[in-house]
Amino acid sequence: MWDAIVSTGTWSGEIWNRRKNGEIFPAWTTITAVRRRDGVVSHYVGTFTDITQRRAAEDEIRHLAFYDALTQLPNRRLMLDRLRQALTASARHGRHGALMLFDLDDFKTLNDTLGHDVGDQFLIEVAARMESCIRECDTVARLGGDEFVVILEELDAGLLAAMQAESVAVKIQGALNQPYLLDLSLAGGEANTRSYHCTSSIGITLFRGHDVDVDELLKRADTAMYQAKAAGRNTLRFFDPQMQAAVSVRATLDTDLRAAIGESQFVLHYQPQVDGSGRMTGVEALLRWQHPRRGLVMPAEFIDQAEATRLIMPLGRWVLETACRQLAEWAGQAGREGLDIAVNVSGRQFHQADFVDQVKAVLATTGADPRRLKLEVTESLLLHDIEDVVARMAQLRALGINFALDDFGTGYSSLYYLKRLPLAQLKIDQSFVRDVLIDANDAAIARTVIALGQSLGLAVIAEGVETPGQRDFLKLHGCHAFQGNLFGVACGAEKLFSEAAAERRDG
Ligand SMILES: [Mg+2]
Repeated sequence: MWDAIVSTGTWSGEIWNRRKNGEIFPAWTTITAVRRRDGVVSHYVGTFTDITQRRAAEDEIRHLAFYDALTQLPNRRLMLDRLRQALTASARHGRHGALMLFDLDDFKTLNDTLGHDVGDQFLIEVAARMESCIRECDTVARLGGDEFVVILEELDAGLLAAMQAESVAVKIQGALNQPYLLDLSLAGGEANTRSYHCTSSIGITLFRGHDVDVDELLKRADTAMYQAKAAGRNTLRFFDPQMQAAVSVRATLDTDLRAAIGESQFVLHYQPQVDGSGRMTGVEALLRWQHPRRGLVMPAEFIDQAEATRLIMPLGRWVLETACRQLAEWAGQAGREGLDIAVNVSGRQFHQADFVDQVKAVLATTGADPRRLKLEVTESLLLHDIEDVVARMAQLRALGINFALDDFGTGYSSLYYLKRLPLAQLKIDQSFVRDVLIDANDAAIARTVIALGQSLGLAVIAEGVETPGQRDFLKLHGCHAFQGNLFGVACGAEKLFSEAAAERRDG
């Protein structure tokens, strides 16, 4: 029997409990120690309250407070919180971020004509498409109405950040531009669907650290977004005029490039390749862009862009076809029938699934002799599936096509891979040739490439040879093929046998 019950010390907290059916549930638990009068704990009294519903209600409240009820995206409040965190993180690791404001063009018309239910259905789809375009570390939020925000983190510095932000914006824009299938029965009409098209206007501003506060950033994105609207909608604008200018230059280049392919503004120039006695054995085909306003544009100015936008595919094919047509023409002309043409092939082009078939088709339509065709590939090719590269090269080699490894020494240069490729020729990069007489390192590299070619049974050609001194040095060390202005500048095919030949003789 109890003299008295004295309770001393109570602990309460949340624990996970298990129901008889095995289900786990959160329980609010209070345990009280009960002591006898003499102070000895006699037993404990515990009470358990199932708080599953309370927990669910709390979660619900939190969700309502931070997420948009319609799209389930973060709402303005959570977006602001994430933006502050992004600024802090950016201040800590020094990387750039971007704030992008999306406004759907003409959403009001959709809402007014088809009703809010259809409008809501559309917004849910918009949210899903936007989310599918971003990385896990980024945020898409709905500010309300048809306004969405994207926060990008961990971008590179300066102009690169602008380009990265632009490419994400363009990706989202592309996703949003796809047609929507709206269910009109939601508007009370008959069960039918309607295809709907929507564009968006985007304002972008970059941030780094706490240079600019959250309010100001939102204002900037807003300003840029209105500029996009003013520019005719379905477009994007940067807040920073300099970023805008840089991105515009790229956009102009892209538009011009597309037009150039359609309007055949490209030409091939040919630079002679000669043997040790100065006799022309072939040429390298070099791409030039006959720009209607800018004149002759060199590949350095547009190849990267063509690679990035995959325009390199049609462009590369055009180069191959034009060179092969030239080969076929020379095949019927005395003294020219033995000339090779070297064609540069980019990694992207080479890795196209049907590249081998493309080459076969071009050979078939032009009638060019594959043995006169040399494909110049770079070491960057080897960064991809080496087995696939070797297999493709072997297929092309079986047709009679030769391979040269371009820019040798500037890239990957794994001797193991080098040995596995069915190469005919190594090309000493002009950056080594240029200073071969004054820089001991360049001279050593040039000599090493020549020796390497000899031991692997590969021909070696030096490009960018401009002086007799460079030629003589290379010759002395065993290189007997050259390309460079000493032997002829790149020019149109018709000039190749007149002026260039005269220059070669003089050289
Ligand atoms: Mg080349």
